[in-house]
Amino acid sequence: MRSHSHGHGHAEQGMLSVEEAYDRVMASFGPLEPVATPLMDALGLVLAVDVDSPLDLPPLANSGMDGYAVRSEDIPDASPDSPRQLRVIGLVAAGQRPSQDVGPGTAIRIMTGATVPGGADTVVPFEETDEVQRRQAGLSLDEIAILSGLPVGRNVRPAGEDVGRGQRVLDAGTVVRPAEIGVMASLGLERVKVIRRPVVAILATGDELVAAGGELDGGQIYDSNSFSVAASVVACGGVPKHLGIARDNMEDLENKLRAVAGSDLAITSAGVSRGDYDMVKDVLTSQGDMNFWSVRMRPAKPLAFGHLRTGGDEKVPLLGLPGNPVSAMVAFEMFARPAIRTMLGRRPSPRPTVEGVLTGPIYNEDGRRVYARVQVETRNGTYYATPTGPQGSNILTSMSRANGLAICPEDLPHKQAGDKVRIIMLDWNEEVFV
Ligand code: AMP
Ligand code: MG
Repeated sequence: MRSHSHGHGHAEQGMLSVEEAYDRVMASFGPLEPVATPLMDALGLVLAVDVDSPLDLPPLANSGMDGYAVRSEDIPDASPDSPRQLRVIGLVAAGQRPSQDVGPGTAIRIMTGATVPGGADTVVPFEETDEVQRRQAGLSLDEIAILSGLPVGRNVRPAGEDVGRGQRVLDAGTVVRPAEIGVMASLGLERVKVIRRPVVAILATGDELVAAGGELDGGQIYDSNSFSVAASVVACGGVPKHLGIARDNMEDLENKLRAVAGSDLAITSAGVSRGDYDMVKDVLTSQGDMNFWSVRMRPAKPLAFGHLRTGGDEKVPLLGLPGNPVSAMVAFEMFARPAIRTMLGRRPSPRPTVEGVLTGPIYNEDGRRVYARVQVETRNGTYYATPTGPQGSNILTSMSRANGLAICPEDLPHKQAGDKVRIIMLDWNEEVFV
């Protein structure tokens, strides 16, 4: 790879590759501890324990059809031409306990899901009896003609067919989806142990920021990073804790940062570049072990990471995102999301990537890895990636128009229309495939 001093001299020395920065951040994270939670709250979380079945499922043999429970040996070779006549001695519906057994020459009318009575080993569906004809003719259902000789076990769901008592049903480490919620409910479980969600404290910094709902004065802007970051935290399974906006002075920053205590991760935005009012660096350095890095990527070059002392022995990992709204989101994507997923016990970076064809150029002016916001579509089985207009790290709407980040590697000055690109899919949904 060529060198990228570009006259920045000293400042470039701290420039890390994306991979190096990622490794350094990720070295601080592992799965959090388990908590017992109501079943529904486990959705999207990771099982902390193996789940073994406390029962047979189904608990008792039951019918797979509406029909007649019979003894297979009573109906050998039955057919429409040679029906077998059986005496109907009762009825059993789902949830009922059969009150009698099926003996030779008898049948019990049975509904789907109802327990198969003792003695019976086969269920003959209504359609394979003369029930409809009998009803139409006004005949009683005390007797029934079986029109089909069915083998032992037909339409009977044996006890334990799905799961046997004591059987391992779900492994620790499984991500709980609706199907797993259903499986655990079918075992009668009300609560389950999962790895808990991380609490992520979020602090915006900047004298120019106004909270949503306030009035803008000259030179001010609304704080969007708190919201895009909090929403990103929720989207990847964390619990955001809003610490508000800190002004660009030591006192306010130190005050607001106190509320970080007890969180699993703190995320700040802005104040980590080289400007006159970039206080976050100073505060973090004095209150923790903090590293400031430039990462060889665009957007999101400036990044801080380290641990903040919050009293006693407690240290909370802190990720200082850049202030520009797109940079903040892309840095979150590359570093915070994998950290949060790791704490959740999930695989850190499972975003699907695809190879697609660019429909417009991506420029790389200074040897950084470029993550260009693109709209990805498929046409005739090929992915096409269209850059979403101006790529400035302040243009937040370009993020909203994008469903992927197309990568231009460090060592390429540009990618042109028609070139192949690797794309990180931020959204992987139906809209991609219209
Ligand atoms: P800084 O890192 O403080 O130099 O900020 C870089 C840019 O990001 C500046 O244009 C800031 O106004 C902008 N910015 C910083 N924080 C936020 C925020 N919370 N929401 C929106 N824009 C921000
Ligand atoms: Mg600032």
